[in-house]
Amino acid sequence: MTLQNQLQELRGQVDEINLKILDLLNQRARIVSDIGKVQAQLGTSFYDPQREAQMLTMLEQANQGPFSNETIKALFREIFRASMALEEKEARAKILVQRKSPDDRTVITLPDGVTRIGDGGFQVITGPCAVESLEQMEETAAALAARGIKIIRGMAYKPRTSPYDFQGLGEPGLKIARQVANKYGMFVTSEIMDASQIPMMSDYVDIFWVGARNMQNSFLLKALGQVRQPIILKRGLSATLEEFLYAAEYIVSSGNPNVILIERGIRTFERWTRNTLDIGGVTVLKLESHLPVIVDISHSAGRRDIAVPLARVAKASGADGLMVEVHPNPPVAMSDAKQQLTIPQFHELMDALATA
Ligand code: PEP
Ligand code: MN
Repeated sequence: MTLQNQLQELRGQVDEINLKILDLLNQRARIVSDIGKVQAQLGTSFYDPQREAQMLTMLEQANQGPFSNETIKALFREIFRASMALEEKEARAKILVQRKSPDDRTVITLPDGVTRIGDGGFQVITGPCAVESLEQMEETAAALAARGIKIIRGMAYKPRTSPYDFQGLGEPGLKIARQVANKYGMFVTSEIMDASQIPMMSDYVDIFWVGARNMQNSFLLKALGQVRQPIILKRGLSATLEEFLYAAEYIVSSGNPNVILIERGIRTFERWTRNTLDIGGVTVLKLESHLPVIVDISHSAGRRDIAVPLARVAKASGADGLMVEVHPNPPVAMSDAKQQLTIPQFHELMDALATA
C-alpha cells in the first residue's frame, strides 16, 4: 500500500468516526431533552451541577488516553454547555410573550376600532397622577383633547408610601374620569389594586393598569388574564427585565393577549432623578417581546424640567409611546407635585414630539 493510499484509508476511518460521533451527539441531545421534560414535571431545575461533576468523574476514571483527563473534561464541558443552550432555546420558544420573529408584534386596538398601540405609531397616554376633582379632570381633558390625545390616565386608588398620604377618591374618582372621557371621546386607564375590584372597575375603565408595586402580584395578574380589556403593566421598582416579562406572561397565559409594558424607571443609587430610566431596557424589551412598550417619563424622572429630552429619547428608542403626568396646577397636586407637567408644558412637549 502506498503512503498515499494509507493516508486515504486512515482519513476514511476518521470520517466514519466523525459521523458516529455526530450521531451520538444528537442522540445524546435528544435524551437530555427528555430528561429536561421529566425534570419539568418534577419541578426540578434543568441545571444540575452535581450531576455534571459526577459525569466528569466517571469519564476521568474511564479515560485510557491518549487524551489527558483535562482535555476530555474540557471537551465534555463544551457538550454539556451546548445541551444547556439547546434547552434554554426550547424553553424560551415556549414563552408566549417572547418575540418569535422580527415582524411578530402585538397590536392593541381600542373599542373605537382606530386607536391602536403597537402598530408602529406613537401613543401618548396622559392625564394627572390622580383624579382629584371634576374641575381638575375637565380642565386637563380639554387640553388633551385639543392635541388629539385618546387615552387619559388618572388614579382613583393610590398605593402611597405613607398611609397618611392621599389615597385617592375611589369609585367617585373613576366616575369623574369616565364622565370627562365620554365628553371628549377618550379612553380611560386607571390603576387596579386588587382582583376584587375587577367587576366594579369594568364599568369605568377601558384599560386596566397594574402599578409598579403590584407587578409581581401573580393572583391579580392571573385574574386580569380573564378580562377582555387590555392591561397596562408597569415594571416593578427593582424588577429585572426577565421578571417583568414573566409578570406579563402571567396575564397572557391566563387568556388575555393584550398587554402593554411600561418602563417607569428603576431604583439605582442615583438621586438627582427619582428613578433611573432604563432606556437600554426598553430596546431590549422591544427585541425580546412582541408586546408594545411605553416609556413613563414622569415616574422615571420625578421632575418636569427634563420631560422634553426624555420624550425625544423615548421616541428614538423605538418605544410605542409614552406616559406623562399633566395637571392644571401641579404645585397643589395631591400626589407627584414635582413631576406633573403644567398644561403649557404639555403643549410644548407635544410640539417637540411632532418634530422628533
Ligand atoms: C403612577 O403612574 O402614578 C404611578 C404611581 O406609577 P408607578 O406604579 O409606576 O409608581
Ligand atoms: Mn404618579
